[in-house]
Amino acid sequence: MDEKFKELEQCRACGSKSLVSYLDLGKTPLANSLIMKEDVGTEEVFPLNVLLCRDCFFSQLSIVVNPEKMFRNYFFVSSISNTFRKHCEELAFQLNDSGIFEDNNLIVDIASNDGTLLKPFKEKGNRILGVDPALNIAKIANDERIETIPEYWTPELAKKIREKYGTAKVITAFNVFAHVDDIHSFVESAKLLLDKEGYFIIESPHILPLINNTEFDTIYHEHLSYLLVKPLISVMNSHGFRIAKIEEHNIHGGSIRMFMKHIESEETSDETVRAILEKEEKQGLYSFDTYLSFKEKVSEIKYNLVSLLKKLKSEGKIVAGFGASAKGNTLLNYSGINNELLTHVFDITPEKQNKLTPVSNIPIIHQSRLMENSPDYLLLLAWNYADEIFEKTLDFKNKGGKYIIPVPEVRII
Ligand SMILES: [Zn+2]
Repeated sequence: MDEKFKELEQCRACGSKSLVSYLDLGKTPLANSLIMKEDVGTEEVFPLNVLLCRDCFFSQLSIVVNPEKMFRNYFFVSSISNTFRKHCEELAFQLNDSGIFEDNNLIVDIASNDGTLLKPFKEKGNRILGVDPALNIAKIANDERIETIPEYWTPELAKKIREKYGTAKVITAFNVFAHVDDIHSFVESAKLLLDKEGYFIIESPHILPLINNTEFDTIYHEHLSYLLVKPLISVMNSHGFRIAKIEEHNIHGGSIRMFMKHIESEETSDETVRAILEKEEKQGLYSFDTYLSFKEKVSEIKYNLVSLLKKLKSEGKIVAGFGASAKGNTLLNYSGINNELLTHVFDITPEKQNKLTPVSNIPIIHQSRLMENSPDYLLLLAWNYADEIFEKTLDFKNKGGKYIIPVPEVRII
């Protein structure tokens, strides 16, 4: 893609052209594009508008931003999050205990980041291989001896890997499927590399908690799709895969982990797949009205949050943000919250230090400087890591500091 972005012309799951908008968050900068002081005023903005497919109810953004702008230089390093690291270790234990691995089986992780998911597999003696287009982060992984190919996941790459390393017993794709425009090519690539009795495992946020808990700030340009199971069953079937089981996990506001097998395999879909489909149906995810009432709740959060921040400011209170996260930028930009309402955003990631949030232009400083800046309130911009943040900011809390949590509704604790 040469252009900066392209419009979505048809549903990426079923191909229908019957797409209708249900949540327009305005024009916002890329959520991970933190800027330097000298770049203030030059930020590029793109429409952030969610469409629903009238035929299969798959939710997707109205545009696809050129992936070179989003994924070649990436700031999020997986291992920063203890929660995610533990989550990956549990998967390694789960799969090893299931007995699917024999000696020296290959596991390939797509969008492997710094190798956080592969590390525990390596420790258990599996052969590992990462694939990640972020050049800066693939380098970190390679330096740590997690072999990582710095490329996008394509059928050509899958074939190359197969020739060089053989088939993969497990292919994992965590928090990447929603980033992919051509999901059919993505799934087909896995089909080419997966061992006859292997598992292709996708984990990404499920749209059900997003809608139920009004987690609208998980919507940003990197997340092209918001996963719904029924349309994905058709996608998988069309490439010779069956969804054998689905697990629900609390991570990232509520994710599903789907285990795919080749359709020729004897393992059929178990009751977990049926249970999720029933849940989606019961929660109204196959009815347009559900999405309209979600939109109302999103407007309410914006109104309540901005009113609260203005009130606190008028009372002379100092409010800062915590976690210079992508979702934080959606919240700030959609709500029009800038450096007049938040003094700083605290964050621990080295690459984010001394930068500013895009358009809202709030300075990011290291969280070790929280107490010297003594805010009265912290707005949690990474509420999905709330428990971890509470633990890390006990001093703040013990001195009477309070937290503002924006979703599912604005509240102070
Ligand atoms: Zn569709």
